[in-house]
Amino acid sequence: MVSTATQRDIRKLSLEDLKTFFVEQGDKPFRAQQVYEWLWKKSAKDFDQMTNLSLPTRELLKAHFVINHIRVDQMQRSVDGTIKNAVKLHDGLIVESVLIPKEKRITACVSSQVGCSLDCKFCATARLKRMRNLNADEIYDQVVAIQQQSELFFGRPLTNIVFMGMGEPLLNYANVIEAIDKITSPKGLNMAPKRITVSTVGIAKMIKKMADDEVKFNLAVSLHDAINETRSAIMPINESNSLEELAEALKYWYAKRKRKVTYEYVVWKGINDTRTHAEALLKYCQHVPCKVNLIEYNPIDDGAFQQASDEALRMYQELLEGHGITTRIRKSRGKDIDAACGQLANKS
Ligand code: SAH
Repeated sequence: MVSTATQRDIRKLSLEDLKTFFVEQGDKPFRAQQVYEWLWKKSAKDFDQMTNLSLPTRELLKAHFVINHIRVDQMQRSVDGTIKNAVKLHDGLIVESVLIPKEKRITACVSSQVGCSLDCKFCATARLKRMRNLNADEIYDQVVAIQQQSELFFGRPLTNIVFMGMGEPLLNYANVIEAIDKITSPKGLNMAPKRITVSTVGIAKMIKKMADDEVKFNLAVSLHDAINETRSAIMPINESNSLEELAEALKYWYAKRKRKVTYEYVVWKGINDTRTHAEALLKYCQHVPCKVNLIEYNPIDDGAFQQASDEALRMYQELLEGHGITTRIRKSRGKDIDAACGQLANKS
């Protein structure tokens, strides 16, 4: 369906906006509830699916609005069960989302932007220019699509959502928050906020905003090094947003939220695989209660970064665990289909 100048994207309207629309059309505000439920809870892709509305009402909606739904353009399955979706947006742009099945949980990894503006040197998405932010419904639809795949292929529901796909969620804050509101609302997917994790490069002022907004989901920070010089070299955001500013924001967040922060950390050969870097991380971990995920590096072709030895990983883990910090070594999933962290880059 192609929208015309007079047809608006109906999912940009709040429930209140919809009520106003129906009242203006001489209908009952209750109609808005029905439509809203079709749009969000039942993920209708077409006004004709809204079978409890009269034909004239459906025609009225068609005349005024379109439903811009995402389409799973291509689906790849890894030998380990991981599913990667190439998701086509209404304007033809593509993002990727991933379903990660584990014994006890099924996790959706979703994108928040088309491309990314941050230029982290080790990430494939960084090579794509940031094209635009995703709308709330485009984020929400990725979750719905994965939930359906979860039931279809694994016979059980989606349990967790991580914003670790393409893009920086805190640079598309309003839409991410709106999508999470819909995901957690009984009028939407009714998922518990504690099952949702937003992962960020660590934009200090946005972390403070999240604290002020009293959001209920979890926070993960892609730290990767706790020495400014090294971190700035691999993550340019650190130049304008230092580790000290980040620490201050995290303290502010923890004071309000009282939940451990997760640090994501890759150990690379010759970059941060020495005891000096591990000790800097240990020291950084004193700022707020936290846990550390040492994530396996997924090569993105040019060989500048290489996964550190198992010995280096053990050194990190022993040091941190020795000081009471929960530290997990996370093996990658879906590598064979480029669905692992940092590999999302639309090869299709
Ligand atoms: N912009 C957000 C979310 C997207 S990246 C963020 O930076 O947190 C999701 C995670 O994958 C981040 O921790 C990121 O640092 C990590 N990552 C990026 N490239 C990677 C790679 N090649 N191998 C392993 N992890 C990578």
